[in-house]
Amino acid sequence: MTLRVLVVEDDREIRSLMQSSLSVEGFGVQTAASLSEARALLRHAPPDVVILDLGLPDGDGELLVRELRQRQSVPIIVVSARHQETQKIALLDAGADDYLTKPFSVAELLARIRVALRHRGTALAAAVTVHALDDLRIDLATRVVQRAGEPLHLTPTEFKLLARLVRSAGRVVTHRQLLADVWGAEFTGHTHYLRLYMGQLRAKIERDPAEPRHLLTETGVGYRLADV
Ligand code: CA
Repeated sequence: MTLRVLVVEDDREIRSLMQSSLSVEGFGVQTAASLSEARALLRHAPPDVVILDLGLPDGDGELLVRELRQRQSVPIIVVSARHQETQKIALLDAGADDYLTKPFSVAELLARIRVALRHRGTALAAAVTVHALDDLRIDLATRVVQRAGEPLHLTPTEFKLLARLVRSAGRVVTHRQLLADVWGAEFTGHTHYLRLYMGQLRAKIERDPAEPRHLLTETGVGYRLADV
């Protein structure tokens, strides 16, 4: 089955680069240069994943995220320029799956698409409960975390935070999402909790906490558990 990607991007060069590189990878690619074109294509044939630029000639990509989230669970990967940082966070909190900052490589784009599609798949199938990468192994069902075969002792909150990242492995999770899911909705402003607990987790999990390879910082946005 050919997976279909809808690329919404008004920059012609970027649009055709994405179209050709995704076609080479075997995706069926449709492109739209504006919100209205995207809406027409979405009505006609819903894609498996949407790559969405934020600044479009007839409006903001954010509108499309909100429209799509009202009726579809199609993965949305937002592509933005660096100055759109604040908006990017709002979009992730509103239901976009991930983001890429321009300029990005085709390899990065493909990796993000694979992760987004996999998470859509697992939302329907049984939830993944084991995360293993390099020397790290996390089993959510048995609550056993091991590094190089040795069990690590995590506090309940450390485990909860790690488990939340495992459930979104490979994808960015915003500060707000982490705080709401681990501590509760009333704690979304307490980013110092995150810094503290992320430091503790890194000290236990990473070989070199100063150069983390598993618990990655997405500056100004949140954290991502590496999964490749
Ligand atoms: Ca644009």
